[in-house]
Amino acid sequence: MTNFKILCFLMFAFAFTVSDGFADDRKTVTLTGWGIDAKNPDKFIKNAEEVGFNVLITWSTDPIFLKRTVETGEQHKIKIFSCISPMGGMEGLWKKRYPGRPVPWQVMTNDEEAARKFIMAGKNQYIIPYQFGGEPKMTNEVLGTKIICFNDLEARELFKPLIDDIVSVPGIEGMAFDGFGYQNYRRCHCEHCKTLLTEYGARHPEMTKNETEVIFFRDTLVDYINYLADYARSKKEGIKTSIHIWPVFAPEPLYGKRLDIDFCGQTAAWYNLWPKEKIAEYSKIISGEAKSYHQRQKGVGMIGYYDKPGKFPVKDAIRVDMELQTMIENGCLEIQVCGAKDVMDNKGISVVFEKYFK
Ligand SMILES: [Zn+2]
Repeated sequence: MTNFKILCFLMFAFAFTVSDGFADDRKTVTLTGWGIDAKNPDKFIKNAEEVGFNVLITWSTDPIFLKRTVETGEQHKIKIFSCISPMGGMEGLWKKRYPGRPVPWQVMTNDEEAARKFIMAGKNQYIIPYQFGGEPKMTNEVLGTKIICFNDLEARELFKPLIDDIVSVPGIEGMAFDGFGYQNYRRCHCEHCKTLLTEYGARHPEMTKNETEVIFFRDTLVDYINYLADYARSKKEGIKTSIHIWPVFAPEPLYGKRLDIDFCGQTAAWYNLWPKEKIAEYSKIISGEAKSYHQRQKGVGMIGYYDKPGKFPVKDAIRVDMELQTMIENGCLEIQVCGAKDVMDNKGISVVFEKYFK
């Protein structure tokens, strides 16, 4: 063969190998989207199939809405999860169950409360470098939304009838968790938590004060989520579980390996523009550590995408492509995006997702 022919052959062989490898990746990557448009779920689910979504998670727990979305999902090969949250919706449940008693919200310090008021005032949260529950950049950065104290077991019981309703929807794929974290990203300062922390410290004299606090509140959160996931499985064998870990647990952002959850979503690319190196590093950890504690777990990388200029940093198609490619190349073959509607409503962005998932 002439040198030219050899070169052509080598180029062809190389191209074939690359495209073949890419084709294999395309077969194995899956896409989960947060949110289903309540106004027009049928059209939304049909569009989601066209983009390449495999799963949609809705914040609705309404059995009628869930039944409808499951049925439409079956026509479009999209599985439906319904999500529980320890945030605002808990207030109504608590007041109904325990009228006259205050809701056991997490308690923050006075400084954290003052920071919350400042962050939530006017448009402050869009002007300051606020991370909306992602890894904080400012001192005393906190979430505006109240969250139930994870050491209040009466509040935990309120999730059970909700879970019963979700798992009894025929054909539903699973139950998801959202908002399970601390409002100040670290701990709760209520009297009950303080007492339990002191007792925990007394049982662990080998730990420093900081270690005691971090491990106690981390494990409280982990045990709480695992307890509810176990409960869901006890009510319906084979029910799947999913989560996006948010708000962040600042002392250990990637604690997700400890969760006995099937699809454990951890942030790999947040709404603000993380450097490529950080996305790569986090994706490797998320995928590599997934089975450290629980065999059922699949590590899921979460990419934040909002099409809300002026409120959230703009991610253009090149940026989104880089983030998805970096996540996949570093082992995250399961990907979650929030919000699914933002992706579908922006043609330039949805074609990037189609490239990887359709
Ligand atoms: Zn507490």
